[in-house]
Amino acid sequence: MLFLQGGASVQFGLLPLNLLHPGQSADYLESGHWARRAISEARRHARVNVIASAAAQSFTALPSFEQWRSSPDAGYCHITSNETGNGLQLRDFPQLAVPLVADMTSDFLTRPIPVDRFGLIYASAQKNLGIAGLCVVIVHQNLLRRPPRHLPAAFSYAVQAEQQSRFNTPPTFALYVTGLMLRWIRQNGGLPAMDEAAQRRSRELYRYIDTSRIYRCRQHPPDRSAINVCFRLIEPGSTDTFVQQAAQHGLYNLHGHAAEGGIRASLYNAMPQAGVRRLIAFMTAFEHAHG
Ligand code: PMP
Repeated sequence: MLFLQGGASVQFGLLPLNLLHPGQSADYLESGHWARRAISEARRHARVNVIASAAAQSFTALPSFEQWRSSPDAGYCHITSNETGNGLQLRDFPQLAVPLVADMTSDFLTRPIPVDRFGLIYASAQKNLGIAGLCVVIVHQNLLRRPPRHLPAAFSYAVQAEQQSRFNTPPTFALYVTGLMLRWIRQNGGLPAMDEAAQRRSRELYRYIDTSRIYRCRQHPPDRSAINVCFRLIEPGSTDTFVQQAAQHGLYNLHGHAAEGGIRASLYNAMPQAGVRRLIAFMTAFEHAHG
């Protein structure tokens, strides 16, 4: 388990550099904005195969495992467990012939996961387990290998593993905050309780959206994220008014991801159920005024 500097975006480039042997390519599931970012960065260093894509569904539904087309020379298969911008989440994880690598930046520690099914898991801390500046990388011992010649040693998983993440000075304050968050998560019932809370928060919000007259969630219900609830106003011209009035009611940062538009409610571990209730109360009042 490595605690590295920088965010998940740094890992996008470090994955192919650290994991692939000469001649190997890498498989990627194209599930949305963040998968695409991971793909374009990996392409700078390796041959990338997109094994399945949600593009045909405008990134509102995930391709099923049966649709994934793995490549014979792939060194790993990369997935994004939760698409922060377009609100899709993988509920389950396949058993593959190649190591499964997951960007869990936006849903790490929000639910129990079968860690032994993965070759590598990485997550920036700033969503569910702390503040920016720290990236947690869980990597299987078998995947650690001598760094390629041009890779700075601080960016080598093998070197950092050998030095217990202290090859260079770690981001100490970010680590401290993550320590506090981990204690808070444990004191509040651990991952089963985080999961239950995430399900409760998102269920209540999706249920309200699905029964409302002015809001619409296009995401395919089985693939909807329990963490980032993305929806739109049926009348798109009202989006800015919605966001401005929400801020006047103390509800901030509801603008959808820049690439997506619409509205997004990010319900990370730190969000209480009362926050969701307050959002729904505001949405209901807005619906009465504008419906
Ligand atoms: N992956 C996902 C799924 C994300 O949500 C984000 C940040 N929003 C990133 C990667 C990038 O993380 P960072 O900004 O820490 O590099």
